[in-house]
Amino acid sequence: MDSPDMLRGNYERLGLAVNCQKFMEAMGISFEGAPAAYSLFSDMLKLLNESETLDKLWPIFFRARFAFDQGYNPELHMCQTCSNELKYPVFHVQEGVLTCSACAFTQGPRFRLSKESLDALRFVQENSPLRWTELNLSVKARKELSRVIDGFIQYHIGLSWENGMFRRV
Ligand SMILES: [Zn+2]
Repeated sequence: MDSPDMLRGNYERLGLAVNCQKFMEAMGISFEGAPAAYSLFSDMLKLLNESETLDKLWPIFFRARFAFDQGYNPELHMCQTCSNELKYPVFHVQEGVLTCSACAFTQGPRFRLSKESLDALRFVQENSPLRWTELNLSVKARKELSRVIDGFIQYHIGLSWENGMFRRV
């Protein structure tokens, strides 16, 4: 009904939107999570329709934010072991938690995050997609964020993006 004209006529924009939609369909939406999913997807369409430039990270941020809103919401402000500030944050994929580097002694896959990446993840957790254009990330942060979000989604939701579709892994 909002008729996103730019989206309809531009395959790159449409492709990013379809990617987000396919993720929602693959993951599914809970009854309680429906209002959050609706407003997130509406804002995402608005962003993809109106933004002058596009960022391939947006669908990845969308996956993270969608999962956060549907209940997989990691605490991003303090170490989950010692409760101190996350000075050198390490993300533990299996547990889905962040700890400081001093507490990062568990087995299993884990990723170190720079302060820039952690700040960006918090920003995505707290702000509408309409503000994601404000993120101006270094190449290093972009790589870290794609790896950590893909790892998280694959492990916890069991979905992986392959050849234009989400597959159960
Ligand atoms: Zn700690």
